[in-house]
Amino acid sequence: MIARVVTDLSLDREFDYLVPDTLSSQIRIGSAVDVPFGNQVREGFVLDLPQNSYYSNDKLKAIIGISKTRASIPEKLIELGKWMAEYYCCTLEQSIRTLLPAAVRSGKIKKRTRKVISILDREKVEQIALQNNPGAIKRAFIARELLKHDNIPLEALSSAIDFSESSLKTLQINKVIKITEEDVPDEEISSFTQVADTPRKPTSDQEKALKQICDMLSGKTKEHVLLLHGVTNSGKTEVYLQAISETLARGKSAIVLVPEISLTPQTVRRFKARFGDTLSVLHSQLSDRERFEEWNRINSGRTQIVVGARSALFAPFTNLGLIVVDEEHESSYKQSEAPRYMARDVAVMRGLLEKAVVILGSATPSAETCYNVDIGKFAVARMTCQVENRPAPRIEIVDQRLAGPPEEGQSNLFSPLLISEVHRRLELGEQTILFFNRRGYARVLRCEEEKCDYEAICPNCSISSPQRLVHYTYSRGRQTLTCHLCGEVHAAPLTCPKCGSPKIRYSGNGTEKIESMARGIFSQARIARMDSDTMKNADDYIRVLDEFKRGNIDILIGTQMIAKGLHFPNVTLVGILNADQELMMQDFRASERAFQLITQVAGRAGRGEHPGSVILQTHNPENDVIDCAANLDFEGFKEYDLEFRKLLNYPPYTRLIAIYFRGEDEQKVYDFAKYFCDQLKPYFHDGIKVAGPALAPIEKIKGKYRYLLSIRGSGLKNVREAIRYFLLKTPLPKGVEAYADVDAQYTSYKAQRKAL
Ligand code: ADP
Ligand code: ZN
Ligand code: ZN
Repeated sequence: MIARVVTDLSLDREFDYLVPDTLSSQIRIGSAVDVPFGNQVREGFVLDLPQNSYYSNDKLKAIIGISKTRASIPEKLIELGKWMAEYYCCTLEQSIRTLLPAAVRSGKIKKRTRKVISILDREKVEQIALQNNPGAIKRAFIARELLKHDNIPLEALSSAIDFSESSLKTLQINKVIKITEEDVPDEEISSFTQVADTPRKPTSDQEKALKQICDMLSGKTKEHVLLLHGVTNSGKTEVYLQAISETLARGKSAIVLVPEISLTPQTVRRFKARFGDTLSVLHSQLSDRERFEEWNRINSGRTQIVVGARSALFAPFTNLGLIVVDEEHESSYKQSEAPRYMARDVAVMRGLLEKAVVILGSATPSAETCYNVDIGKFAVARMTCQVENRPAPRIEIVDQRLAGPPEEGQSNLFSPLLISEVHRRLELGEQTILFFNRRGYARVLRCEEEKCDYEAICPNCSISSPQRLVHYTYSRGRQTLTCHLCGEVHAAPLTCPKCGSPKIRYSGNGTEKIESMARGIFSQARIARMDSDTMKNADDYIRVLDEFKRGNIDILIGTQMIAKGLHFPNVTLVGILNADQELMMQDFRASERAFQLITQVAGRAGRGEHPGSVILQTHNPENDVIDCAANLDFEGFKEYDLEFRKLLNYPPYTRLIAIYFRGEDEQKVYDFAKYFCDQLKPYFHDGIKVAGPALAPIEKIKGKYRYLLSIRGSGLKNVREAIRYFLLKTPLPKGVEAYADVDAQYTSYKAQRKAL
């Protein structure tokens, strides 16, 4: 018997080993094993049990044994890992690594065990218990205690009586008692009394969705993925809960993925109240020990449901029945380090491999998912009404162009309407949320001349309609404009190319500036700000939200951190200070992001008795995206967005792979990028557009220059395989790194930064 093993070295190579007869019954795909490697012993995982090796058997070394420190991986997960490595162009080792939490992988944390003492020879124990002479008194204590409680843990014994290790030893040697090691059982689940929660009677929309899900669970449909498209508060979570119950009733397990930011105590409480201890929660605040223990609870079948962020997708269930991806459109489902996987897509793949049903839930589903529904790959269930039939908020557009240029040192970020509406809320004792999503490093170059609407755009990436612009990044240091889409670089104009005015500026405002302005305008108000500068940890977040909930804050100012999931019934006004921000600066996903954000932020208003209103300030009131968002017209938006992407050949109509090259020596980085691109050339065909290599949107981070080669098109499989092959096999020049980002999200600058 032969086992193909990948070890911890960052080599994308598997090695064949012989399986000794003594181990053959224990070894399967996914087993963690110790193998000889050179003069050392290494740990690895069995990826395959092939019939024959490429080498003759007498050249092969034998597996030493099953790893004592590491857990095995379920076989289907190994299959998923192999697919991820291929598809996301990374090494197998990187991919296999993500299947296990670090705490489990490293083997540093051990299962907690304890010593348990039990009676071997009851007669002798009874005799010893009767003894009274001082020499044997300690042993007598032990014996008496054991007669009261057999199988007593050592700690319990030592807290009950006074005895010495040596007397215990003596009893053990004389075969009167035995001492065994056993796993410490799960700690009692926290004692806070749960209000047990029972399923609600489904609304007719919910019932339809559940019927579809049940049909999928029992294999009556050809699709295995369902888009649950429901407005906020339409009862999606209730559908998930009931679908999970159905899954459990069929003897299967379920995984629920939520974005990290939505993994709030409220969400968790809701699942716990319904399912109690059969549930594991995996969130980023867990300690290594807690993560290790949760993983073992799942792996040993003590829980059937996992709720968690991205990595919960790899929960080691062997009888998976359902995967829910809540807020499936969230870009945070994309991993920023290798393997750069999109959890939503991997969920669909895992579902396929394990014949599990996948539910993708969202109020604003991604273009990719809508497309998959359109072509009949995914099924869809829609829920268009709020459960309590609350009215949707009213959205009013304010045309910021009418405000004219701000006076020197002033700004017109607050329109007169917004100011008066905020004042009105202050008088009524109602609360306001002001939203401004600043991205400090990307900037718009725009003419501020009255009547001139010039904004720098890329000639390759814009199409005729003036609203459909795709923008550059302005670099002040280099005086250049770089297109986010194709990577082309131009010299930045010093005067407006359209009207010749020197009043050409890049804009830059942030929540901090907004806060200080708000303090000036609303001097009586209690104001708080929430963004990644002020929120350093989860406690800050909880504290501010708590204050807001209690009504100790009148105006909450923030970035997208305040856009999602928050439920504050007393918020009746939401001000979106610059709706254009998202729209103008990024890439082909900019419209989508803008629409989603506006919809989400707007959804914060009017969640209580009083109806909500939203003031949406924009420089582009005629823009289709703004218009659709203001009218809560998702279908209209989707049509517009998909048409735009189709015209420009962007995903989901094509696939997109970004290859990044980075290093301190710019010339060297560029030369290698160029060389790499040349190597790929034989694989390019007519259906593929190649841009670059050119400086990346963020051209230099931590002293390293970054070049980007972007490849998009259909029929990318061969190119992708070539990219992976070259990435793994081409020796890199010293000081140069390279990696591929398959299905790149581009605009995820935060992710890009983190990755570097
Ligand atoms: P979503 O996930 O779409 O935002 P939820 O499932 O959270 O919606 O539902 C919104 C609110 O309505 C919750 O308070 C939930 O308990 C309640 N709810 C959901 N479904 C029902 C139902 N069938 N009957 C009564 N209340 C419901
Ligand atoms: Zn371009
Ligand atoms: Zn101009």
